[in-house]
Amino acid sequence: MSRFVYADNAATTKLSANAFEAMKPYLTEYYGNPSSLYHIGVETRKAVDNARADVAKALNASKPNEIYFTSGGSESDNWAIKGAAELGAKKGRKHIISSKFEHHAVLHTLEYLEKHGYEVTLLEVHEDGLVRPEELEAAIREDTALVTIMFANNEIGTIQPIKELAAIAHKHGVLFHTDAVQAVGTVPVDIQDLGVDLLSLSSHKFHGPKGVGALYIKKGIRLPALIHGGAQERGIRAGTENIAGVVGMAAALKESTEHIPERNPRLEKIRDKLIDGLLTIDRSRINGDRKSRLPGNINMCFQGIEGESLLLMLDMQGVEASSGSACTSGSLDPSHVLLSIGLPHEIAHGSLRLTFSDDNTEEDVDYILEVLPPIIERLRSMSPLWEKIIKENNENI
Ligand SMILES: *Cc1c(COP(=O)(O)O)cnc(C)c1O
Repeated sequence: MSRFVYADNAATTKLSANAFEAMKPYLTEYYGNPSSLYHIGVETRKAVDNARADVAKALNASKPNEIYFTSGGSESDNWAIKGAAELGAKKGRKHIISSKFEHHAVLHTLEYLEKHGYEVTLLEVHEDGLVRPEELEAAIREDTALVTIMFANNEIGTIQPIKELAAIAHKHGVLFHTDAVQAVGTVPVDIQDLGVDLLSLSSHKFHGPKGVGALYIKKGIRLPALIHGGAQERGIRAGTENIAGVVGMAAALKESTEHIPERNPRLEKIRDKLIDGLLTIDRSRINGDRKSRLPGNINMCFQGIEGESLLLMLDMQGVEASSGSACTSGSLDPSHVLLSIGLPHEIAHGSLRLTFSDDNTEEDVDYILEVLPPIIERLRSMSPLWEKIIKENNENI
């Protein structure tokens, strides 16, 4: 029996019904500008303030005004990194540390800064997809301005020891930013406990609307503006507020955070069932550490398979998955994340990422385990690459 299985929740998620309901009044009757003094403006001002307080509470930030609304994860990452770089330069610090498998919103921002006189060190993430704290410590220099390490990787789902990494940066008087786009709403994120200075999040990754996100800026850090203009967001992020967007984001964040204790053990169980099932396929492997991993992330390689054909055939069976990240599929380059964990080019091409949310069930997993192995078999029977792998293997025996 055919089924529809959406398994690309790391790329984006479905808007929650509650978030949609919360947004509706701000797309219809409450259209006032929050900066105005009349009734419908006052209503939207209140809505923006409440959303800010709700986001701060869900993340345990100490004050609502440490939350700054943006247009999403990419903007938050750009703002945090370029802003911290500018602050560093004022003190003669023009060195930034990050990791090899960051999202392009971070890596391309760092490349831009390199062209403008900054030096960047990218830490290894090793075969398990994890940064080593002692390697961070060794990389810090007198002129290091910022450490930016992602909370959870968008392709292989590995979760970094952020609290420990932030403490090391602080020991040396260095600012710490984390791209927590894959983590917020998915796993517990307690800003005060983590001790980070800057944290990026994006609404559409936790069932909120697209095109809205936030940057947490710890009180006392005077981050320069990225967007200049009006007095919105304490004068450092201009532009009339995306009222329905921030209201929807706050509602979705509250909902997805509240569901963590019930949802995550369930997702871990069906994730592990799927991984174990797929590992029985000849010459398959799981990418990234199995334990320190997002509850809904499965990233596998099947030797002798071309990722794109696998995705098309899965789509014909109603399974929506991805290979690498949404930002790189469509290009023929193998994923920089899979290369960073030491996979050779030809294997990094044949990867499959399945990412689950609360909407996925054990029936989805059973269905994938039913349709996927025959697809692999069929693709391999047509693949010259697979023939070569088998031949070389036989010669080695
Ligand atoms: C999706 C994603 C981003 C970009 O967020 P947008 O809101 O789509 O701009 C940044 N970092 C990570 C880790 C992501 O998964």
